[in-house]
Amino acid sequence: MSNDIPFEVLTELEENFKYLHQHPETALKEFKTTAFIKDYLENKCKVELLDLGLDTGSLAIIRGDSNYGSVGFRADIDALPLEEQTTLDYKSKNEGCMHACGHDAHTAILLAFARLLSLDNPFKGNVIFLFQPAEEAEHGGQRVVDAGLFSKVKIDRFFALHVTPELNVGQIAISAGPFSANVDRFSYEIKGIGTHASTPYKGLNPIKALELLSNRLSSLVAQNIPCGDKALISLTHVSSGSTWNIIPDFAYAEGTVRSFSASARSTIIEKMTQLKTVLEAEGYKVEFNFIKGCPATNNDPKLSELIKEEATKLGLTVVSQRANLGGEDFSCFQEHVPGAMFNLGTGIGPSLHNGKFKVDPDALKIGLNVYNSILKRLSRV
Ligand SMILES: [Zn+2]
Ligand SMILES: [Zn+2]
Repeated sequence: MSNDIPFEVLTELEENFKYLHQHPETALKEFKTTAFIKDYLENKCKVELLDLGLDTGSLAIIRGDSNYGSVGFRADIDALPLEEQTTLDYKSKNEGCMHACGHDAHTAILLAFARLLSLDNPFKGNVIFLFQPAEEAEHGGQRVVDAGLFSKVKIDRFFALHVTPELNVGQIAISAGPFSANVDRFSYEIKGIGTHASTPYKGLNPIKALELLSNRLSSLVAQNIPCGDKALISLTHVSSGSTWNIIPDFAYAEGTVRSFSASARSTIIEKMTQLKTVLEAEGYKVEFNFIKGCPATNNDPKLSELIKEEATKLGLTVVSQRANLGGEDFSCFQEHVPGAMFNLGTGIGPSLHNGKFKVDPDALKIGLNVYNSILKRLSRV
């Protein structure tokens, strides 16, 4: 399948992947990773480097005739604060830090794609390569948008991939619509009246408010969201009190809300705001905060179909993308331009974000081939 990709590109692809795997850096600290990416782009690829406007990450373009459009490809570049537990001979050299989400593979594939197109580019328009920092934390996708990505470059169609240990090498997953969720955060700050533990009638125990809150939140989705529309509320952190004989005067609760649709998201916000009123009717003073995070992904139907067709022609097995309530900030770009992200099978094994997670290097050239086929297809229309 990879006969048409020059040997040196495939060799460098694997070398770059292993180098990146050995040198992981967490969100917004990807300085050496960025230097490595820029060095490869400058010395091995015929691309023009642009200013991304951030301290880490990189943006590059192969300029063509704008009348043929502009296609973008994105790789995220950050790693996780996690100790690697594999026995790979190229395991992480940075203690407590690991590429456990495959962003090393994403970066190596996109670098190889820039290299391949520098040798043989079928596309007459512009090709944009975005190496995005801070996908795992610190809102990297939104930072790139806020730094003016779409005023620096025009992108008509945007593509990305994410590795998955739930598929074998040779399998990919793609579907139209959302596959990752709106990732939001909430908190309630509840003020009651503190008193002696033996005289609760003189106070207002905020722990009773936590009980009520926990009960209502656990049934809120089932009671208000249609069953086909997936959502969840997880209460993850509560605190109150300091000892056994004092009724405290304050309680705190926080957690996360996950949803796919805008309507589920807004219904949940409305009902959670009403819960504040319910607690206030009991006499508590309540501060409710809802922080909207990364939106749900939204794969463009036409681009998803294009990926499916091209992958099938390459002899790959294409399956439906399994929706999950995790987050993926490629969605920040899909809010502005049509885009599609597929999952690349990298061998069944331990899950993403696990210290034993591994990418089979044989999958890398498949990712590269899919990108190349997408661009070849777009150069024919
Ligand atoms: Zn991740
Ligand atoms: Zn990831």
